[in-house]
Amino acid sequence: MDIISSRIANLSPSLTLKVTNRAKAMKANGEEIYGLAGGEPEMDTPELIKQAAIEALNNGQTKYTPTAGMMPLREAIAEKLLKENGLHYEPSQIIVSCGAKHSCFNAINALVDEGDEVIIPAPYWVSYPEMVRMVGGKPVFVETKPENSWKLTVEQFEEAMTPRTKMLIINTPTNPTGAVYTEEELRALGELAASEDILILSDEIYEHLVYGNAKHVSMGALSDEIYNLTVTINGFSKGYSMTGWRLGYLAAPTPIAKAVQLIQDHTTSNVCSFAQYGALAALKGDQSFITDMREEYDMRRQYVYGRLKKIPNIKVVEPQGAFYFLVDTSELGLTSLNLCDKLLERYKVAAIPGIAFGNDKSLRLSYCTTLDVLKEGLDRFEDFCRAH
Ligand code: PMP
Ligand code: GLU
Repeated sequence: MDIISSRIANLSPSLTLKVTNRAKAMKANGEEIYGLAGGEPEMDTPELIKQAAIEALNNGQTKYTPTAGMMPLREAIAEKLLKENGLHYEPSQIIVSCGAKHSCFNAINALVDEGDEVIIPAPYWVSYPEMVRMVGGKPVFVETKPENSWKLTVEQFEEAMTPRTKMLIINTPTNPTGAVYTEEELRALGELAASEDILILSDEIYEHLVYGNAKHVSMGALSDEIYNLTVTINGFSKGYSMTGWRLGYLAAPTPIAKAVQLIQDHTTSNVCSFAQYGALAALKGDQSFITDMREEYDMRRQYVYGRLKKIPNIKVVEPQGAFYFLVDTSELGLTSLNLCDKLLERYKVAAIPGIAFGNDKSLRLSYCTTLDVLKEGLDRFEDFCRAH
């Protein structure tokens, strides 16, 4: 008898976590590592958020809250979604979970049946396919192209559809490519999905990190028909630098929110009570942290882009959002795992192999680190590329 269930036995490890943790362990062992792998802002959580959680703890906010999150927090999220995203959700349509990752899984678990197909534009965030597989669904990958700025086109979406298509996943801004969909692009995809009754998982976790002329648009805000089929995912990890707090949320039409609440009632219950006070303070407090962070990341993005453009044997598309570059390494002639292993072992630079995102001819560099580390890391990356 197999010990591990067939649903779990064939899952792939999360390479984003694996590589990042390996680099962190090497660093802890005293090795000088230039970490360009991390998918989390390196700055500390703003003080006012930390103080709110400390105060809540000191005030005895240490008991269960409603499964979906305490009401003041869900009210604040509803207010934010209305004001910033043009999305009308009642607090009862919002479920706070253990990170946006958990929110994505809850939604997929609630909506995808055995054999249902889920269309995932590739390169994709590492965890979507495994989440779909965990519930018996079938991920259907559609290769986006650098000449389309790594964005899914309506034609590609239409071609990938079958009678079993249940859901489309759209992540804008996109991890790992930094693509940001325009309103027109989202509307075209959303209208097609709505005409075929296909659900949309709209992962907007990087919404605050958009640069230049790019603007973040929420899929669910585009029409009532699209809203009725959309699950909006967001959270606190990226915008407020709260990755370790594990705070994300989804907002969805009432029947979907109720189904997700049921799952959570029987699995995790509420997110840590005093962490929720931190989240409330994040939404209610001064938002200049976000603006400062965006400016800082934009400056680093421009620096990295300037450097990468001059490095031989690689290609890169200028990203408009998030904090990543997907670098085309096909001319280096190595698998992405080999490439990243060599880069880490010999050049002490940590990067994520593109295979994690379904593209073995690339690697992902993140600029969630100081300019000094970026400079040295890119010097070394350049040496590596020139040597191959
Ligand atoms: N979606 C995307 C696209 C991500 O890159 C991540 C990684 N952090 C998440 C969701 C999950 O974020 P969280 O830390 O809130 O679980
Ligand atoms: N999402 C981040 C990344 O892509 C963090 C790691 C993870 O949760 O996968 O690196």
